Amino acid sequence: MSDVRADVCIAGGGPAGVMLGLLLARAGIDVLVLEKHDDFFRDFRGDTVHPSTLNLIDALGLRARFDAIAHAPLRRLDAVINGIRLHLVDFTSLPPPNRFVTLMPQWDLLDLLAEAGAEHPSFHLRMGAEVTGLVERGGRVRGVRARTADGELTVQARLVVAADGRSSTVRRALGLVPRERPVDSDVMWFRVPRPQRPVPDTLAWAGPGGVAITIPRPDYLQCALLVPKESDEALHAQGIDAFRAQVVRVVPRLGEVIDAVASYDDVKLLSVQIDRLPRWWRPGVLLIGDAAHAMSPMFGVGINYAVQDAVAAARVLVPALAAQASDAVDRACAAVQRRRDRPTAMMQAIQYRAHRFIASGRIGRIISHPPTRPQRVVLRLVLPLLTPLLARLVGYGFRPERLE
Ligand SMILES: Cc1cc2nc3c(=O)[nH]c(=O)nc-3n(C[C@H](O)[C@H](O)[C@H](O)COP(=O)(O)OP(=O)(O)OC[C@H]3O[C@@H](n4cnc5c(N)ncnc54)[C@H](O)[C@@H]3O)c2cc1C
Repeated sequence: MSDVRADVCIAGGGPAGVMLGLLLARAGIDVLVLEKHDDFFRDFRGDTVHPSTLNLIDALGLRARFDAIAHAPLRRLDAVINGIRLHLVDFTSLPPPNRFVTLMPQWDLLDLLAEAGAEHPSFHLRMGAEVTGLVERGGRVRGVRARTADGELTVQARLVVAADGRSSTVRRALGLVPRERPVDSDVMWFRVPRPQRPVPDTLAWAGPGGVAITIPRPDYLQCALLVPKESDEALHAQGIDAFRAQVVRVVPRLGEVIDAVASYDDVKLLSVQIDRLPRWWRPGVLLIGDAAHAMSPMFGVGINYAVQDAVAAARVLVPALAAQASDAVDRACAAVQRRRDRPTAMMQAIQYRAHRFIASGRIGRIISHPPTRPQRVVLRLVLPLLTPLLARLVGYGFRPERLE
């Protein structure tokens, strides 16, 4: 058993935790990030880096290092509904220079941020350290207990930040229960080689067979099929051929490559969740990112919202921690929630409605094949107005944060 001290102890080395660690260490604050896994290497974690995060990478002076890592920019996102291709999102309408979303494996992004953090002497990251509980005294959280390969570790800290994701251990230890918005779908992720005849970059496919996502990666397609919640057992019982057939019904172009999904071992079910805490802090502890508000994968904004929380938190925590008074730190935690709760609630409300719309089956009826005359008129008049708005919504979300 060993004891260490830090000004701030962050539970969880995901996008929220590592970004906050870097920002605090840049300001000279002694910060310890504890990550339960031994590395950042986990598949299907969400790999989108949006213009809001790219702006931050620029402001941190990390652009050259970011560009040296392989990534795939997407300037437009299309949806194919009943075989009709719609250009839904056009990031080129955004202000320069970051007029695109780019796909970079999340472990590469986290490695980059952790390496940038390690350049500051007050940044400490301990991998393979799983937070198991809190140290509390006098009605205040004063640190955490963690399990490591070397035994139990106790960290005494002026502030604990929970960035340990949507099944947050810290949240559970505090007895905080998020309010959930029930979502009817889950996501089955799999990957296939790119078909011989290239598929134009497309995000979503919808039709009578269901809804699927195809995310173009340099040498494969990362795909997802939306399925009714908790239907995985029934799907498994039908066998992998039925799964493949359903995918091909939604995305016929995958017919020539779907055999790459040899069994259900190649398919990963991820439960979709939307929830938010009524209160993001208690004396001595702040929750950010998915620990405070689990985001659905819809529009791929979760990483960026987690990063935005980190920026907002650093802005108010740095002066509050310098003030040395506990109540200044608590007031700063309350200010983080005041700043980030509304933009999060607005995005979650849109995600929730989009899920309900998809679950109702109405998405397949938006447009018929071929489109009717009124549909053609609407497409011609409404879509050009919609695409820049969607680019702004997906690229920045509500109330994007700036680094000071
Ligand atoms: C299927 C699916 C696909 C998604 N796709 C996208 C996408 O394409 N783009 C996008 O922007 N968002 C996507 N999201 C959402 C996105 O993954 C999350 O919103 C985002 O990762 C939240 O970041 P975070 O840092 O708050 O939490 P997380 O990314 O969950 O990170 C939490 C970290 O804490 C660690 N941890 C957990 N418990 C402990 C503990 N007790 N002690 C120490 N460490 C701990 C975890 O190992 C993890 O590294 C997707 C979500 C789902 C479910």
